[in-house]
Amino acid sequence: MVAETHSSSTGFVIRVPETIYQEMAAHVLAGYPNEACGALGSVDGTVVKNYPAQNVAEHPDDFSIISERDIVRIFNDIDAYDGEMIYYHSHPISEAYPSARDREWAKRSGYLYIIFSLQYQPEPPYARVFRIDPRGEVTEGHIERLPSA
Ligand SMILES: [Zn+2]
Repeated sequence: MVAETHSSSTGFVIRVPETIYQEMAAHVLAGYPNEACGALGSVDGTVVKNYPAQNVAEHPDDFSIISERDIVRIFNDIDAYDGEMIYYHSHPISEAYPSARDREWAKRSGYLYIIFSLQYQPEPPYARVFRIDPRGEVTEGHIERLPSA
């Protein structure tokens, strides 16, 4: 029982180079007031590439989906360097926490989720990272922003 108290936060760390972090922030701001989405390729917990994508959801102010064609293209690219995919998207008016629908999708895909919130505009968007297990349980990790070389 004791171990369970340690499981809810900072269970893992994702390192994001500052240039890529700023690219993502600019992408989600450009998508406002809709949700914006994209993917990242990471190697050993460090993000190495950003794939900003188009949101093809039917109601893009409410949800985000990357098109099948873009996902395949991104997957193949990440596969070429043996990376892992992280999904990111924005919440224009709500907090940076997985919605019920996010949890439904995430538990099937198994990707890590980075969520940006623009709820405090004109303050800059803020981001949080989550792992969502097959039962839909959410664990928050920590985003470490790496100064760019
Ligand atoms: Zn969401």
